[in-house]
Amino acid sequence: MASKRNGAYNQAVYAWQIETVLKKPAKAPPTHDHSHCIEDAVAAAEKLCAAKGLRFTPLRRRVLELVWSSHKPVGAYALLDELRNEDLGSAPPTIYRALDFLIEHGLIHRIERMNAFVGCSHPGEAHRGFFLICGECGNAEELESDGVADTITASASRHGFVARDMTLEVTGTCADCRRSA
Ligand SMILES: [Zn+2]
Ligand SMILES: [Zn+2]
Ligand SMILES: [Zn+2]
Repeated sequence: MASKRNGAYNQAVYAWQIETVLKKPAKAPPTHDHSHCIEDAVAAAEKLCAAKGLRFTPLRRRVLELVWSSHKPVGAYALLDELRNEDLGSAPPTIYRALDFLIEHGLIHRIERMNAFVGCSHPGEAHRGFFLICGECGNAEELESDGVADTITASASRHGFVARDMTLEVTGTCADCRRSA
């Protein structure tokens, strides 16, 4: 399963895809102490891996930290760039495998339309969230709504379609950017 996905990353890592989504860089003043977000994400990953008997290798940890470097989805290209100078055995296939691991265990999500990755805000819980992606600052906020997922699953099943997985990506303008407009 992991190796099937790698091909897609290799072919389609286009920085311009992300640039076309982001009209301007994120605003400088953070609305919260983001170091706590990173610490919490790493602690949650450690706990989850320990509970499931999975190895949380230094590379997996580092990739998770980098994906969590902000609330903006991070492209594989940027991750490869960042890891190039770090001595973690980080050849591209290894990094793609680390990304696959983090996705498979619900620690990060893949934002298809940006070909990028973002940390999961409630790892380890079964959830079918959706993302509100701001076209101004690029932040991707994850919301949970079983109602939305249930509606789609029900419509799909009326068409004889069994829904297995879904990631809803909604684009628009976030509250912060609307305030500063
Ligand atoms: Zn944060
Ligand atoms: Zn999530
Ligand atoms: Zn915004």
